[in-house]
Amino acid sequence: MITLSGLSLEEIEHITDELGASKYRARQIHNGIYLKSAKTIDEMTDLSLKFREELKKIAVVTDVKIKVKQESADGTLKYLLEYPDGEYVETVLMRFDNRANLTACVSSQVGCAVNCSFCATGKRGFIRNLTYKEIIEQVLTIQRDTGLKVTNIVFMGQGEPLLNLDNVLKAMKIFNENFQIGARRLTVSTSGIIPGIEKLAEIDMQSTLAISLHSANHETRARLMNIENKYPLDKLHKALKSYIEKTGRRITIEYLLIKDLNDTVESAKQLVNYLNGIKCNINLIPYNPTEKNDYQKPSGNSVMRFKSLLEQSGKKVTVRLERGADIDAACGQLRGKI
Ligand code: SAH
Ligand code: SF4
Repeated sequence: MITLSGLSLEEIEHITDELGASKYRARQIHNGIYLKSAKTIDEMTDLSLKFREELKKIAVVTDVKIKVKQESADGTLKYLLEYPDGEYVETVLMRFDNRANLTACVSSQVGCAVNCSFCATGKRGFIRNLTYKEIIEQVLTIQRDTGLKVTNIVFMGQGEPLLNLDNVLKAMKIFNENFQIGARRLTVSTSGIIPGIEKLAEIDMQSTLAISLHSANHETRARLMNIENKYPLDKLHKALKSYIEKTGRRITIEYLLIKDLNDTVESAKQLVNYLNGIKCNINLIPYNPTEKNDYQKPSGNSVMRFKSLLEQSGKKVTVRLERGADIDAACGQLRGKI
């Protein structure tokens, strides 16, 4: 059986060719999947009954199951999805106050090999990469289930997207071309995989790059993130400078704030120094508690102090709103729990 979700128009044309149907049929199927969020071939009612029967013999719309769906008090939706091989990932839909913006937070891998000390996903270890079709299915599932159109996509679910770059790039291309989501509305978040950053700089697809920095001090960052030993701050700095030069784009720096660990005045000064000459916005993320570590949330005052110290350096700083913590859908809380 062929799964139609995630296929490009050309790929669908191969199928209609095989069935001896016109290219116009391919366009209808394509619209059915991406614009009308059809759940089944039978729902593609602009296709003739006879053609639908033919198509149903060889294809299905989707092979992903919604295992669990949870809704947070703030309206955030979290889905636990099951792929045909029995693996699970989460995907999250965030509705910000204005309804026009619907952001899907997608997973790029099952588990994650990077294993940052503060993140629940890393605790699972790495299970496998998702294919580009499996990444796309997450967004299609949200659209089919809610009847809404996703407008922004962030690769901030399970996994390190730059360690599955081929599939991530292919998915981004399809989001761009088939979902008509502008590249600027696609954000890839990375723990700082330098070869991946270099590749993104080369192809410059106008998407947003977000770097999970979390500390500008080598020892502290290494304690938080093992990856600092492989891709240390000084090398990362060079890679970021060159990314910005090549693409002309502003990057996003994500900074997780943990009480008494990296939320001090000294930490803020180090961060300002590190980001001197780096064209960026800063997104502060107050730590969300997960099991099995003793990090704590920073106080509201220390978040505000940190924010204003950074602002004095002329950077634009936002504090990430915590979404969906009551259903373990907030940053770092995804781990495929059943
Ligand atoms: N692997 C990528 C993308 C997924 S994580 C990355 O690390 O960038 C998305 C963001 O959530 C990252 O900035 C990550 O550091 C952050 N995060 C992880 N655990 C968290 C936690 N417990 N509280 C708040 N943010 C967390
Ligand atoms: Fe992986 Fe990102 Fe979690 Fe680190 S924070 S373990 S890179 S998903």
